[in-house]
Amino acid sequence: MSDKVLYQKWRPSVFSEIIGQNHVVVTLKNAVELSKTSHAYLFCGPRGVGKTTTARVMAKALNCPSSPNCCMQEPSKKTFCETCESINQGTMIDLIEIDAASNRSIDDIRDIKEKALYAPNMGKVKVYIIDEAHGLTGPAQQAFLKLLEEPPPNVVIILATTAADSLPLTIISRCQRFDFKRINVKEISTHIKFIAKSEEISIEKEALDLIAQNCSGSLRDAENLLQQIATMNKNKITGHSLVKFLGLTTFAASIEILAKILEKDSTKALILLNEQIVNGADPSMIKNQLLTNARGLIFSKNGLSSLLQETEHAIKKLEEIGSNYDLKTINGVASILLKTKVTSNEYPPIGLELAIVEACSVEEKSNDDDGVAVTKSYPTLQKNDKEISTSTPRNAIQDAKVIPEPKKSSATSITNVNRQDEGADLWKQVCSELRRKKGVKYWLGGLLSSASPQVKEQQVILTFKSNTMRQNFLDEISNGKIREVVQSAVSDKYNKDLKIIVADSVNTEQKDSSPLYKTPIVQHAISMGAKVKETKE
Ligand SMILES: [Zn+2]
Repeated sequence: MSDKVLYQKWRPSVFSEIIGQNHVVVTLKNAVELSKTSHAYLFCGPRGVGKTTTARVMAKALNCPSSPNCCMQEPSKKTFCETCESINQGTMIDLIEIDAASNRSIDDIRDIKEKALYAPNMGKVKVYIIDEAHGLTGPAQQAFLKLLEEPPPNVVIILATTAADSLPLTIISRCQRFDFKRINVKEISTHIKFIAKSEEISIEKEALDLIAQNCSGSLRDAENLLQQIATMNKNKITGHSLVKFLGLTTFAASIEILAKILEKDSTKALILLNEQIVNGADPSMIKNQLLTNARGLIFSKNGLSSLLQETEHAIKKLEEIGSNYDLKTINGVASILLKTKVTSNEYPPIGLELAIVEACSVEEKSNDDDGVAVTKSYPTLQKNDKEISTSTPRNAIQDAKVIPEPKKSSATSITNVNRQDEGADLWKQVCSELRRKKGVKYWLGGLLSSASPQVKEQQVILTFKSNTMRQNFLDEISNGKIREVVQSAVSDKYNKDLKIIVADSVNTEQKDSSPLYKTPIVQHAISMGAKVKETKE
């Protein structure tokens, strides 16, 4: 392997070598061939995907006196004219590269404006490449705008930025804009394989895939990673060496943990996790891998495997595992993992372990079509129940389990808020109705008004503020007649048949922790629906 930095050595020098940006390359080549180039270009996109490289190739293409143009050559047989070679060597004086992150003052731009007025020295056009163009300050942007509004002849400006949104529209609208994409895993993998072969680096297929998957679509990052690992491992890169370096688990290991979670086998899942941690994997990376795989399962269940940036082998495995589980269960597991905070190198990895145990209890909820999986079931009360049954008491930790919600768009959230308001209103109406009803105790309405109702499908789930309140309600409603009155009040106001369900858990959130609340008389009053206005000790 040579001493030169790989990404510089393998930087594309003609259009056909630019990887993953075909949509940009085709348009630019056509413009050059038809002599219909613009005086200003804007190249936007993530870092390391070829914006500056493409700008340099374009600068060459605009200046090349040869026919055919040097930049239209195939990679295998490249020769360059004197002008193009000077750009390759970085000695061409008509190509001016400016890093706007460091030369962004108004004076710098004035300087550019003045120099732009002079004719090119050796080429056909002067090309200015302004890197990190979003770094230009306000006055510099204004000065620059003038340059774009009245471009001197024989000047081409190429702005490159990772944050096009930070540029004023007045600048954007005066440029021909090209959006560069993240480079996909397959293209990166192929390119890295080619470089490794040329540089006599031996690299396992698994390692190639891992590099491609862990560089966020940036070819430069992939090339740097290849160089770093090759140097560390004397040009012999195994999958294992990469897994270790990145603090990852292998795909095989992470998908196995996920499969055990979906099988609800928490014991096996924890053992597998422990093995990976002992081998030096970082719990936060494992969490990300589990989430990535869960996303893979969700995509494959939706017939969208082609959108996944995964290898063929991984996609096959995801489809195979995905076929065994329903979408709601996978969604539920993913939601739990997503909300779990796992710090880097946490040891022991308690956060991740707890999340795995919780995710193992995700169950599919029947008659539920909104994609929500629940981690526990509620006892139900039905009109025909002879006995009111409640499930066995659970401890607070079990009851505190969170019902994972699938991610919803903001529009849906707004609708939900409205629905919640509407629901709260209806519930108030139910309570005041019950206060007036004959045959039920006058305080039943008050008691119910302190419960939080949650309507789901054909059920209204009531969560009480204390166990006493909850028990009082269950006692009352064990009387069939009273139950019917309550049930019909609910059905009337909500205008549909809703099954009343009492949640196992209680909502212990209490604004005032005064010991007065704990006295039997106050507890009793609250249980009958009383509200505390103020406390005096
Ligand atoms: Zn040339």
